Amino acid sequence: MSAAMPVYSESFIPAEPWKGQAACMQVDPDMFFPTKGDHESARNAVATCRTCPVVGDCLQYALEHRETQGVWGGLTPMQRKRIARTPVCRRCKTPIGHLSKQHRYCESCAVARRAESQKAYAQKGAA
Ligand code: SF4
Ligand SMILES: [Zn+2]
Repeated sequence: MSAAMPVYSESFIPAEPWKGQAACMQVDPDMFFPTKGDHESARNAVATCRTCPVVGDCLQYALEHRETQGVWGGLTPMQRKRIARTPVCRRCKTPIGHLSKQHRYCESCAVARRAESQKAYAQKGAA
């Protein structure tokens, strides 16, 4: 018989609306803050994040709050640092590879914005 996995009621995740679904609530939170050179804990933490249904919310939180320690949203501090320097879509925050005044949105958001403004224009015309 295998030993039962411990269930942690607390995690390092703050009281955000998505906290209840965080996969790290079920594992040892220390794993997400490995000491220097503890690659195994870091790998296990990243593997847990890959199964987490709120990975996007978590990453966004960590980037917005400039979390410099630990694994958040499946990324190490170094990986998050790289992403933080990458321009993101102003609407959905997806990293985009370029940023100019004309290209501040990802392709999907640019299409959605065009459709919205066309709809608004048509409604204005009908009024
Ligand atoms: S993405 Fe990782 S660190 Fe963030 S809530 Fe999920 S399991 Fe926890
Ligand atoms: Zn977008």
